Amino acid sequence: MENIEKTFDVIVIGAGTGGTTAARFTAKKGLNVCLIDRKKKEDIGNKICGDAVGNEIFDLLKIAHPKDEELSCHIKGAKLYSPDLKKCITLLDPKQAGYIVNRLEFGQRLLNEALDAGVKQFLDKTMVLDLLYSNGTVNGVQVKLANGEKVNLNAKIVIDASGFYTPLRKKVRSTLIEKNIQKEDSILCYREIVKFSPSDLEVQDPEHITIILDQKKAPGGYIWYFPKNQSSVNIGIGTFMDYRGKVKDLYRSNVYNKFIKTSKVEILSSGGGVVPVRRPLWSCADNGFMLIGDAACQVNPLHGGGIDPSMRAGYYAANSALQALENNNYSINQLWDYNYKVMTSFGAEFASLDLLRIVLQSLSNEALNFGLGRELLSGEEILEISSKGGLNLSLIDMAVKAFKGISNPNLLLDLNYLRIRMNEISKLYKNFPRNLSQFSNWKEKAIGIYEKIKTMFVGSKKIK
Ligand SMILES: Cc1cc2nc3c(=O)[nH]c(=O)nc-3n(C[C@H](O)[C@H](O)[C@H](O)COP(=O)(O)OP(=O)(O)OC[C@H]3O[C@@H](n4cnc5c(N)ncnc54)[C@H](O)[C@@H]3O)c2cc1C
Repeated sequence: MENIEKTFDVIVIGAGTGGTTAARFTAKKGLNVCLIDRKKKEDIGNKICGDAVGNEIFDLLKIAHPKDEELSCHIKGAKLYSPDLKKCITLLDPKQAGYIVNRLEFGQRLLNEALDAGVKQFLDKTMVLDLLYSNGTVNGVQVKLANGEKVNLNAKIVIDASGFYTPLRKKVRSTLIEKNIQKEDSILCYREIVKFSPSDLEVQDPEHITIILDQKKAPGGYIWYFPKNQSSVNIGIGTFMDYRGKVKDLYRSNVYNKFIKTSKVEILSSGGGVVPVRRPLWSCADNGFMLIGDAACQVNPLHGGGIDPSMRAGYYAANSALQALENNNYSINQLWDYNYKVMTSFGAEFASLDLLRIVLQSLSNEALNFGLGRELLSGEEILEISSKGGLNLSLIDMAVKAFKGISNPNLLLDLNYLRIRMNEISKLYKNFPRNLSQFSNWKEKAIGIYEKIKTMFVGSKKIK
């Protein structure tokens, strides 16, 4: 390979939604940035996904909203169905509104904007193999270039945005960053993009994404049905990881055969993937190193949406990298600021939704039908929970719920217990320690809350 540069301020691994955002904002601030991906350039952005992303992130980062070939359709909100399909809760608020994107075109745009922002070197078809260290601090990566040559690249800071299967989390020399993700904290997905022939029925609800909770048909996860355009849908299933090898069959029998009523179809794309559905890693950084996006488990535990948080984290990591360079300090004490930003913002929401996710996965279809049917949680409350990660109920609300839930008092008590723990964890995350010295105390308290919920609803503790 002809001469490539080997020394940078920042190396970003992975040019997905998180990595391109981190690269863009570090480059924009004048840092010397290298962006690396194992895919070839034209394939960047091509990912098996539900393709739904909310409005908010584009305003937050002041970047263009999806349009033209990158936009599939606009979404007004979400519809959540009970397993018996008798109850539909419509969730309409600005946070739910957004887009279904064409993933490849969207990814290509984010990549091109990062390159235009001044990324110094983009290496595609390049596999990152390992981290390099100097005095206990990450100071680069070993990569295998497109021609098979192995080279070392150095940087003051390495940002890992290489997705759920990151090779680096297992290799990092850290007591702060957990290496393994427990299998019950991930969801296995399979989805197809299905086109109906124009003469056939149109997509049923072209303005809403539809989510169906069903513990029998989609154990531990849900069935989704997202419009793509006037004649095609993105339809899929998420299940517990134990269904590895069986998820496609579940999809075929419980989703495709049930929801696609015509035989005149064309399958435009199919494939599976894994999404982490837990709180972010306890620490998303260590000396010279930050993780963002799926690599850091920064995905909404309730619905598995990870595009928005990966971009948020990319932006936060870019700001922290800039600060570190200004202070000429790449230690975890300096980069702690990135953890603080993640945990006190969407981390607080996700930690709380993680508790809700654990409880929802433990409920039977009967309990879900009852709880959603009687509106033990209303649409507004679900929105409040998903936007704030907690729920404040007045005494009167509680009394009304007690009355509604009178024929199932255990469920009501369980939900109330959950509500209290959700508020507790959200508050704890919002008070995430400003520095590392108070972290182990904080973590112990957080684990205590998870263990209470796990003991009560799953019958096991096992939080690491
Ligand atoms: C079936 C499914 C449906 C989903 N639906 C939605 C949805 O509707 N909305 C939503 O918001 N989220 C959804 N998600 C989640 C979302 O896709 C991810 O959370 C999001 O893409 C995370 O972005 P990322 O940048 O962290 O990682 P990724 O997008 O996974 O990018 C990682 C990049 O790193 C590269 N890479 C990996 N390993 C290496 C290596 N060793 N060396 C170099 N490069 C490497 C990869 O090629 C890739 O380009 C879904 C996920 C799945 C699986």
